[in-house]
Amino acid sequence: MNKTLLVLLSGLLLLGCQEVEEQTANEVMVLGGGLMGSATAWQLSKQGYRVRLIEKQDSIYTQGSSYGEARIARSNNRGNDIWSYLHNRSVQEVEELIAFLNKDLPEPIHHVEDIYTTSPVTYVGRTRIYERLLASLERQKVKYDMASNPAEGRDLYNVLLPESVLMQREYNLHSGTINPRALIQKLHQAVRKMGGSVEYQTKVLEVKQDSVTQRFHLLLDQQGQEQQITVSKVVSALGPYTGTTLREVAPYLDTLINPQRVFLAFFRVAPKVYRSLTVEQQQKLQDFYPVINSSKGTRSGSFFSMIEYFDSEDIPVIKIGGHFQRSAIDDLDQVWQKDLMQEEIEWSLKSTAGYFRMLNIPVESEDLEWVDGYSCVYALTASEVPIVSPVITPDHKPDANFVVLGGMSGVGAKGAMSYGLIAADLFTLRSEPDSMYWVVKKALGFERLLEDVY
Ligand SMILES: Cc1cc2nc3c(=O)[nH]c(=O)nc-3n(C[C@H](O)[C@H](O)[C@H](O)COP(=O)(O)OP(=O)(O)OC[C@H]3O[C@@H](n4cnc5c(N)ncnc54)[C@H](O)[C@@H]3O)c2cc1C
Repeated sequence: MNKTLLVLLSGLLLLGCQEVEEQTANEVMVLGGGLMGSATAWQLSKQGYRVRLIEKQDSIYTQGSSYGEARIARSNNRGNDIWSYLHNRSVQEVEELIAFLNKDLPEPIHHVEDIYTTSPVTYVGRTRIYERLLASLERQKVKYDMASNPAEGRDLYNVLLPESVLMQREYNLHSGTINPRALIQKLHQAVRKMGGSVEYQTKVLEVKQDSVTQRFHLLLDQQGQEQQITVSKVVSALGPYTGTTLREVAPYLDTLINPQRVFLAFFRVAPKVYRSLTVEQQQKLQDFYPVINSSKGTRSGSFFSMIEYFDSEDIPVIKIGGHFQRSAIDDLDQVWQKDLMQEEIEWSLKSTAGYFRMLNIPVESEDLEWVDGYSCVYALTASEVPIVSPVITPDHKPDANFVVLGGMSGVGAKGAMSYGLIAADLFTLRSEPDSMYWVVKKALGFERLLEDVY
């Protein structure tokens, strides 16, 4: 056979393969490379799909709900066991991811500790939650201890608990904080290692569905160049941009998922004061973060706080925010640049200083130095339970070719790997016998979405 004929024939064969690949629907386009899109892209790759992950930012993630190096990861949730399951299942998935990345390396360079910092999670709340809390701790198999009055607070933790306030601490392995930045980077690495692609600086401008072929037309902006592509299977994980970007294929999401501004303030103890603390006090300061503090019993008085990083002087930089400090957004593209208001700074300072007083660590508000503060956004549904579901067809059926992860709210990070798993399973029809897997899938899934919309 002559050479030109051979090249022609192999070209035709290649074209044939590509067509078969399309027909077997082995390719999925994942929109949004934050925690949810990245986790889904990895899970799909692991289950044999070829993934194309599209992200409008550069390879260094600087804006989005997943921005930052610390989110609280915890096994206990007194309200609902699904959060506990989502976290615990994510830990298993992170272990698997790390093993995959280390496979075939002369020695392991990836570690679960790159993602999780194990540190007791401290909860401060009103004693009226005691029974409910105790029941959930037992049910969710949490290692814990607890002080439920001022005397126990002094004896157990050397803290100053007000009357009617309890403090409980969780000691499970990998409870503490999860690092979104590190997890996103490793997930992208893993997707590439599986043969998928991660395309940065590529913005989805428009998503439409052809009513005859049922295929999806996407208009992309790739570093200033527009490109129209047609695909069969799509996952959308666009965070706060879900509603606006999907207005053509799932217009109801724009009202169902509500982006809200939240602010974060960063402080450190002034170096001179920090160094004047005893070694035990410095250690205590580190050990009693992260914290979820609802001791006031009011939504506006509640805060979450954690150590984001240690600065160049090895002083912990403490981040604080409040889920109920959130506010409506006028312009989603501009909100990230919004400075903190004076009252937000004062609330953050007062809350941090109050916590130091409770911990019995001699740091006053004037000893706290402002480091940074910024606005960020997360999107949430009315029930604050995220959606991981196929979108709805005009005749109210699940569209098995378009899965959306949205409304991940202020609790998404710790469960990211599980949300990704459930989203991938919607394509591959993989499932698990664990009854909690089904409870969670249902809570996030299609029937619930249908109920929310109609
Ligand atoms: C202040 C704050 C505190 C939080 N605290 C906790 C906590 O303690 N514990 C916890 O578990 N969770 C916490 N969360 C929640 C968690 O961080 C989020 O639920 C999670 O990061 C959501 O991830 P996502 O992938 O859905 O969204 P995102 O991270 O926003 O990802 C969406 C991605 O899509 C990209 N994108 C958007 N539009 C386009 C487009 N048109 N084309 C291409 N790409 C696009 C964005 O750039 C982004 O990368 C917190 C969130 C915030 C904001």
